[in-house]
Amino acid sequence: MGAGIDALAERLRDAVGADRVLTDRQELRTYECDGLAHYKVIPALVVLAGSAADVVATVQACADARVPFVARGSGTGLSGGALPHAEGVLIVTSQMRRIVEVAPDDERAVVEPGVINLQVSKAATPHGYYYAPDPSSQQICSIGGNVAENSGGAHCLKYGFTTNHVVGAQIVAPDGELVRLGARAPDAPGYDLLGAFVGSEGTLGITTEVTLRLVRLPESVRTLLAAFETTDQAGAATSAIIAAGVVPAAVEMMDALAIEAAEAAVSCGYPRGAGAVLIVELDGPAAEVEAQFAQVLSLCAEAFEIRIAADDAERALFWKGRKSAFAAVGRISPDYIVQDGVIPRTALPEVLHRIGEVSAAHGVRVANVFHAGDGNLHPLVLFDDGVAGEAERAEAVSGAILDLCIEYGGSITGEHGVGMDKAKHMPRMFTDDDLDTMQLVRCAFDPHALSNPGKVFPTPRLCGEVPGRHRGTHPAQETGLAEIF
Ligand SMILES: Cc1cc2nc3c(=O)[nH]c(=O)nc-3n(C[C@H](O)[C@H](O)[C@H](O)COP(=O)(O)OP(=O)(O)OC[C@H]3O[C@@H](n4cnc5c(N)ncnc54)[C@H](O)[C@@H]3O)c2cc1C
Repeated sequence: MGAGIDALAERLRDAVGADRVLTDRQELRTYECDGLAHYKVIPALVVLAGSAADVVATVQACADARVPFVARGSGTGLSGGALPHAEGVLIVTSQMRRIVEVAPDDERAVVEPGVINLQVSKAATPHGYYYAPDPSSQQICSIGGNVAENSGGAHCLKYGFTTNHVVGAQIVAPDGELVRLGARAPDAPGYDLLGAFVGSEGTLGITTEVTLRLVRLPESVRTLLAAFETTDQAGAATSAIIAAGVVPAAVEMMDALAIEAAEAAVSCGYPRGAGAVLIVELDGPAAEVEAQFAQVLSLCAEAFEIRIAADDAERALFWKGRKSAFAAVGRISPDYIVQDGVIPRTALPEVLHRIGEVSAAHGVRVANVFHAGDGNLHPLVLFDDGVAGEAERAEAVSGAILDLCIEYGGSITGEHGVGMDKAKHMPRMFTDDDLDTMQLVRCAFDPHALSNPGKVFPTPRLCGEVPGRHRGTHPAQETGLAEIF
């Protein structure tokens, strides 16, 4: 450790307690990566925050010493967002696991950022409520990480992403000030700073408490699994369901390769010979669900087999294959890239064909498992790092898939964020001026670029990651629309 970091460690030990400050290299290595394990950086030191006061003290110390810091929840992120900074402090919030309040009367829960997503629903269920956004990682990912990534999940088709379920947050701004954004009641006046914070990937500060919207448990849930010969048929059924005005809680699709992997990993028993399966779940008042379920069944007429979950156990089995799919591809390939992009739902069949063509042209297998209802693709690009050239070919396929997402009017990320991994792809979607304008927002929160630097934006601009204040004059400044401070 350098002298500056030594002094910072000393100050932090005094402020938060010696047992919360890690400086031993072996211990630091535990935090060298998130779920995207091919990027690794050992942080200069780690603080295991136990309270908002610990986060305030740590961020203040970093601000005074101009040392960068990175927040980390459970470390399940798939875009390298929680990748540490080699000369910086990693602030881990996973020990902040208090559910402060469950208030069914106004349909709210107040939680610390390290609370695991599923624990919110577990705490709310006895009151007849649950927390709707359900990333497939919901058994391990934290609410703080969900807020930073604006995470989605299978049931976000009907209920919306994290941003639709966060009504307030206490954050530690990058200068160490404790600030409240949003309010318990809806529609706080003024700029929607909470909206800017959700999905900002740790670049605007660290959240230390979140007020969440709870959703009433549905009276009825019905789930079917439809097996089709082709992804075209499954894609057409998805579009037909939405076009008919039915908004299922979830519509998920897996192609043949993804099914093969799930079968090998968890024996989910999906129909043999399927080129694609759809899982369609409806929830709501019983009468409405019954009527719409009949409609969905008729719209899946091209399926060669339809199974209807008879009870919760069978429903869980349908979901087991889908929810285990990412990890399951490890059964059919030594290495893989989890890609994440989004396209208009109606483009699904065409884009899946184009992905097939790219895959064949490069000799690289791609398993598709995704949130079909909202066009959020998760192509899993399979390769063997032990075979010369395969990793490069897989990277090429992965990049070509993002190009397809942009070509069809979608985006380079649907829900996993930009992080470290996709910062280089941002110019494929945005002009330099667009990116500079985004940096102005960042500057307003973090003029010294200390909060998760090097993430989201490809080239440091304005008061970004370069030393000094800014480069050049932004068009928004020239026209008097914005100023840099
Ligand atoms: C098997 C698997 C399945 C997944 N499925 C989904 C899915 O269906 N949908 C989906 O959206 N994602 C999914 N993910 C990705 C990941 O789980 C989510 O992005 C999740 O929200 C990350 O939470 P975390 O606590 O692990 O955050 P981390 O990985 O620790 O951090 C993620 C980002 O949040 C920031 N951050 C963390 N805590 C805070 C805080 N308190 N304040 C400010 N910033 C903070 C970090 O700096 C980083 O930028 C999946 C991941 C895996 C491994």
